[in-house]
Amino acid sequence: MTQLKPIIAIDGPAGSGKSTIAKRIAKKCDLFYIDTGAMYRALALKAKHLGIDPENNVAIVKISKNINIELKYEAASSKLTVFLDGKDVSEEIRKPSITEHVSTIAKIKEVREQMVLLQRKMAEGKNAILEGRDITTVVFPDAYKKFYLDADPEERIKRRFLELKDKKIAVDEAIVQKDITFRDKTDSTREHAPLKRAQDAIYIDTTHLSIDEVVCRVLKEIQKKP
Ligand code: C5P
Repeated sequence: MTQLKPIIAIDGPAGSGKSTIAKRIAKKCDLFYIDTGAMYRALALKAKHLGIDPENNVAIVKISKNINIELKYEAASSKLTVFLDGKDVSEEIRKPSITEHVSTIAKIKEVREQMVLLQRKMAEGKNAILEGRDITTVVFPDAYKKFYLDADPEERIKRRFLELKDKKIAVDEAIVQKDITFRDKTDSTREHAPLKRAQDAIYIDTTHLSIDEVVCRVLKEIQKKP
């Protein structure tokens, strides 16, 4: 695969600020924004629509090979629209009923291979920013700049709870805590492409930083010569 345009890669756990920061940077630097978590979520939604058990690896792999996912980011409104087989599923994929199963399907090796292919294809020939769990380690290990965003679990739980509230998705804070704890563990201990800090990724602890402060730090690093 040829990727001649510079790529910015961001990894980190849920609630570390990846999406917010990637969207801001995409807007400021005119980059194509790829939310890879939304792609795994779209697959989990497709499985749900088809009544497939998230533990049924064979069936999940089969549908992952024949899935059409499109991402459209509108920088002016900071809005990401996610299309699954041509239908706007942006809101549906954020529901707790999807979130609770996504890490289970994301453990499957063949599913990951399929998603990595799609992600590289989406970024091909573009100046892009991608965020997820394996972007700096697997999808684009040679990215122009690589970041690992982190924050204390309590802060990440608080952020995710407020985010869902803002989206008018009714959820209990205890459920958010359970979800983040489960996904932190599943995503970082799985056999294939676990979430981990790439040695050469720039580490930013966002716990006590404002969004503007994180954006500023990321921009400064992007502007530095590699
Ligand atoms: O980023 P978001 O929280 O929407 O991701 C949902 C889930 O998708 C993660 O918890 C993880 O299980 C999976 N994921 C992944 N690899 C990525 C992005 C997301 O395994 N690159």
